[in-house]
Amino acid sequence: MKILVINCGSSSLKYQLIDMENESVLAKGLCERIGIEGSKLTHEAEGKDKHVVENPMPNHSTAIKMVMDALVDPVYGVIKDTSEISAVGHRVLHAGTVYSDSIIVNDDVKRVVRECFDLGPLHNPANLMGIEACEETMPGTPNVAVFDTAFGMSMPEKAYLYAIPHEYFEKYSIRRYGFHGTSHKFVSGEAIKFGNLDPEKAKVIVCHLGNGASVSASIGGKCVDTSMGLTPLEGLIMGTRSGDIDPAVVQFICNKEGKTVNEVLDILNKKSGVLGMSGGISSDFRDIENAKAEGNHLAAVALDAFQYRVIKYIGAYAAAMNGVDAIVFTAGVGENDKPGRKAICESLGYLGVKIDDEANNVRSQKRIISAPDSKVKVMLIPTNEELAIARETLALVK
Ligand code: AMP
Repeated sequence: MKILVINCGSSSLKYQLIDMENESVLAKGLCERIGIEGSKLTHEAEGKDKHVVENPMPNHSTAIKMVMDALVDPVYGVIKDTSEISAVGHRVLHAGTVYSDSIIVNDDVKRVVRECFDLGPLHNPANLMGIEACEETMPGTPNVAVFDTAFGMSMPEKAYLYAIPHEYFEKYSIRRYGFHGTSHKFVSGEAIKFGNLDPEKAKVIVCHLGNGASVSASIGGKCVDTSMGLTPLEGLIMGTRSGDIDPAVVQFICNKEGKTVNEVLDILNKKSGVLGMSGGISSDFRDIENAKAEGNHLAAVALDAFQYRVIKYIGAYAAAMNGVDAIVFTAGVGENDKPGRKAICESLGYLGVKIDDEANNVRSQKRIISAPDSKVKVMLIPTNEELAIARETLALVK
């Protein structure tokens, strides 16, 4: 059985076609910079040359059509027809309190995903576009939604309740949900295996640092806290999201600029983060690093602030768990930004963290990057949300 996994982010679309007989990846690829100038698809299939298509991708529907073309391409493709795909597993950001598990997509599921646009304004619309583009391109093939909010469901009340009148939780289920759950669950599980940690007691902090970014704390693979909240806006500084902010800032901007709350939240979601802090250079961390290297002060401050907040969250979660056995870096920035990892780890000396420069300088490969005498194991574990999603999808459709 072949399962296509689609992971639509705000500006990216990752995909993998996985043969579930042996969980091997037949083809995988990435559409980058969707909706931004310079978009491209990079497609890789086992035993074939890398296929790069540089075409404008104004939206996710165009991206999915390009993925299908690549999969059935006579030279670079791996299937003759899209009917060989048994099911499609979609990473979907937010299910509110309606679904606490994965589910086969029907009209009700799409309605719930649509109703949660407010809760995940950058991702839920992209996720739904991905689902609808697959329905259009492969009619009759089941689509499965795998929700990002599932991992955070094990948080205790002290971590998930906001200090606001309790009636709002009772009436509207306003609480912290946490996101990137599929990634945090997979990476913390891999870290426990890879680092030979106690599967029942290991205290693990996962730093999922990508265009969207979050930190989670888990004990024995169960989430006890995570940095995103009711929506993915809370927590770390991200590509375009502000992360933690005094809510009074919203009121202040509304009053000064004559904007509505929705308009200001749109700014906090789409025009803030390193994009906003750098004075509008880019939401892409590589562009920010290049600008810093050229001497741009605001770009340097944006990167410093991003790392500073990661450092603060690691400290908070080590305190919350009364210790930490492993700190794990994953996702686009976490896996690739060697100087960033080093800078973060250099501020964790008080925890007994010691980085091994040589190990840290290897790109995107599962490894321990702390020195042998480091009190905390620091690891780089590439996230594999696709495999996790494919397993959930298989379980529902077989
Ligand atoms: P993700 O959301 O996990 O796909 O991560 C995307 C982010 O990773 C983008 O902002 C990229 O700029 C960033 N990224 C990829 N490679 C690097 C790198 N070598 N250094 C810093 N950031 C990177």
